[in-house]
Amino acid sequence: MIKSSDIDLSFIKKVCEVGGESIKKCFQCGTCTASCVMGPYTTFRTRRLLRRALLGLKDQVLHSDDLWLCAACYTCYDRCPRGVKIPVVISALRAVAVDEGVIHPGVRHTKAFLKSVGRNGRINEAAVILSTIGLNPKGLLDLMKMARAMAIKGKRPPTKPEPIPDVEQVQKIYELVVRR
Ligand code: SF4
Ligand code: SF4
Repeated sequence: MIKSSDIDLSFIKKVCEVGGESIKKCFQCGTCTASCVMGPYTTFRTRRLLRRALLGLKDQVLHSDDLWLCAACYTCYDRCPRGVKIPVVISALRAVAVDEGVIHPGVRHTKAFLKSVGRNGRINEAAVILSTIGLNPKGLLDLMKMARAMAIKGKRPPTKPEPIPDVEQVQKIYELVVRR
């Protein structure tokens, strides 16, 4: 049940200010949920996330795992009958989460992913996974189990990946982006 104390009417204003203004066009048809490539594999329901945001349920949205399950594939954007820029809206919601100091593992994953690509031109899978998990004992235990299963199948990722050719160009782009 939603209580009036759960609603923050300034939330959607802030989302709009950082690029998510198209969320206001959503009329809750559910096409995005039906199209979402992550839906069959996770609890993520796109329409529900947008609905909660529109209602001003800031804490529910910003602390939700759903917020970090979008793969930004743009399938829903292509199909939305109202032209809601859904992946852009989700990016705006994530930006607000970071701005409000909500450090979900998804934030750590994004930062580690960017840093790794900015350094090597490709991701260092081991480093990105470790940064994402952080100091979570259960996560580390699960990771060890996965690493063991991968090693048995000869699929252990390199701990120090070789940079791609001409990696300096990627590094320059990365520097420009992070300094903005
Ligand atoms: S498809 Fe578009 S209009 Fe329909 S629920 Fe999703 S965002 Fe809203
Ligand atoms: S952009 Fe995100 S919400 Fe839309 S279909 Fe892809 S994964 Fe789902």
